[in-house]
Amino acid sequence: MFNNLSDKLDKALHVLKGHGSITEVNVAETLKEVRRALLDADVNFKIAKSFTTKVKEKALGQNVLTTLQPGQLMVKIVKDELTELMGGDAEGINLSGDPSVILMSGLQGSGKTTFSGKLANYLKNKKTKRPLLVACDVYRPAAIDQLHVVGDQIGVEVFSDRGNNDPVAIAKAGIAHAKANGFNVVIIDTAGRLAVDEAMMTEISNIHKATQPQETLFVVDSMTGQDAVNTAKAFNDVLNFDGVILTKLDGDTRGGAAISIKSVVNKPIKFIGTGEKMEAIDVFYPSRMADRILGMGDVVSLVERAQEQFDEVEARKLQKKIAKNQFGFDDFLKQIQQIKKMGNMKDLVGMIPGAGKMMKDIDIDDDAFKGIEAIIHSMTPKERSNPSIINASRKKRVAKGSGTTVQEVNQLLKQFDQMSKMMIMMQGGGGKKMMQLMKN
Ligand code: GDP
Repeated sequence: MFNNLSDKLDKALHVLKGHGSITEVNVAETLKEVRRALLDADVNFKIAKSFTTKVKEKALGQNVLTTLQPGQLMVKIVKDELTELMGGDAEGINLSGDPSVILMSGLQGSGKTTFSGKLANYLKNKKTKRPLLVACDVYRPAAIDQLHVVGDQIGVEVFSDRGNNDPVAIAKAGIAHAKANGFNVVIIDTAGRLAVDEAMMTEISNIHKATQPQETLFVVDSMTGQDAVNTAKAFNDVLNFDGVILTKLDGDTRGGAAISIKSVVNKPIKFIGTGEKMEAIDVFYPSRMADRILGMGDVVSLVERAQEQFDEVEARKLQKKIAKNQFGFDDFLKQIQQIKKMGNMKDLVGMIPGAGKMMKDIDIDDDAFKGIEAIIHSMTPKERSNPSIINASRKKRVAKGSGTTVQEVNQLLKQFDQMSKMMIMMQGGGGKKMMQLMKN
């Protein structure tokens, strides 16, 4: 996420981070570089200019040059300004109303249908919410099918009416269906066009008037840079929407949309989409995003994601197994599945302070676990629970079955063995000892 921008800002702030004396000249030079980095990231020219002006004013106001650690203070000022630019405090969505109606708007391909599913799944997991998805794209039958596929995947009902070509009527019928059947959130997915046009605006505006949503969200593809900002403006003029959803932040997004959108439409970014899977949704926290842009990682989000996947009952079962030395490959497989659910690997690494920068050139692909999973799937249940029985001929069979080599099977067995030993050590009060060892 934002690798290029992070890199350039890192270079720009290099001098200030204590790698040389700090003078008025190099503060000015640094700010010029920061501005260039923002422009390269497709941030609007005016925004980039006012950003550096504000940073400069703050730096002067706080007498940066005479403080003990001028570099760090400058980085902090840049971080605070970035946070401010992206929206200050995080803002949630309005779920008042029974049912609460959430209307999705945006261009075709921006990720509305995917995000509708992600949001429904997110709310459903909150336990108190029972969402209903409503399909209002009457132009593309495939769009209705797509929403049904998504609904089936997450176990959320989808309301559609294939014979009807009036999206306003479908939206209203969807809300009535929700009221009659105890759904407390209605998420309305609408049709988009490839570019802003009058017919689309009239239609979404009519749906908006008829459904009086508590929350109107504008979904935008962050890869489209300044175009994203222009589209946001066009939709906001008509809908006066409540919040922005930035999708596809997992790609090689330059970052311009994330940084500029708030100050152009003065509406907060509420969620981001970071992948095609239903779990790839995150609440947008401007301050955490600023940390990530400045290469400081985002440990808080990483821990939160781990917690979301954490199942206490499973964890206790696992602990017992480890204590009894019964940790097998099936448990290992479960662990891998949990990690995978946390999101895309490159994204996860980027949340570890410093690691994103260190590993930016290493290709971490999401299939990293594929070989391991294939090997485990090729083992018999007996072999999985008792790997010590895997002799040479079994290894050959497993390698063949998984399309790997005996060497790779051996490597996995070795790693598994080391991991099991380490877990037993941690269990037996050796945790402190281990930490000590790691520190030395
Ligand atoms: P709609 O036309 O606005 O409903 O857009 P869709 O939901 O159909 O999404 C268009 C394409 O973008 C699909 O192929 C999605 O899988 C993909 N997509 C949506 N959100 C994300 C995201 O956050 N990351 C990535 N990588 N792809 C996404």
